[in-house]
Amino acid sequence: MTNSNVEQNRSGNKIVEMTCIVCPIGCHLKVEVDENGRFVSVTGNRCPRGAEYAKQEVTDPRRVLPTSVKVIGGELPLVSVRTEKPIPKKLIFEAMKVIKSIQVEAPVKRGQIILENLLNTGVNLIATRTVKRIEEVEKNAKSWRDGAAI
Ligand code: SF4
Repeated sequence: MTNSNVEQNRSGNKIVEMTCIVCPIGCHLKVEVDENGRFVSVTGNRCPRGAEYAKQEVTDPRRVLPTSVKVIGGELPLVSVRTEKPIPKKLIFEAMKVIKSIQVEAPVKRGQIILENLLNTGVNLIATRTVKRIEEVEKNAKSWRDGAAI
């Protein structure tokens, strides 16, 4: 939830204010939630995607998790990764613990699955860049130097 602010209306329901982050317009939403935390209504959205976002955000907020994973034998010590889809916000701390404990052998290809079904969410963790093996980078550099010396 972004910039949330909570008030109460005359019927006792909570009005949660938030910014829709689905597109760059960033509509200011007012979401009505009953005493059991159930979604009642939303105003301020310019399109149905904003209503879906508001409903999801008050009932089961989710986020794409971008982070990095250790690489063994790579030209870089880390590879950037992200979840393929948003995962429940409440699992992010636990997901980070799992991700910190893993490492991957180079080479790593952009889009490669690094971890399947993260915390049984049905969502995979994927690499968002390529990391070559260090030997491959050194071999290419040597070939370039040898070629340049001729
Ligand atoms: S409600 Fe629709 S138009 Fe407004 S920010 Fe969300 S997605 Fe964009």
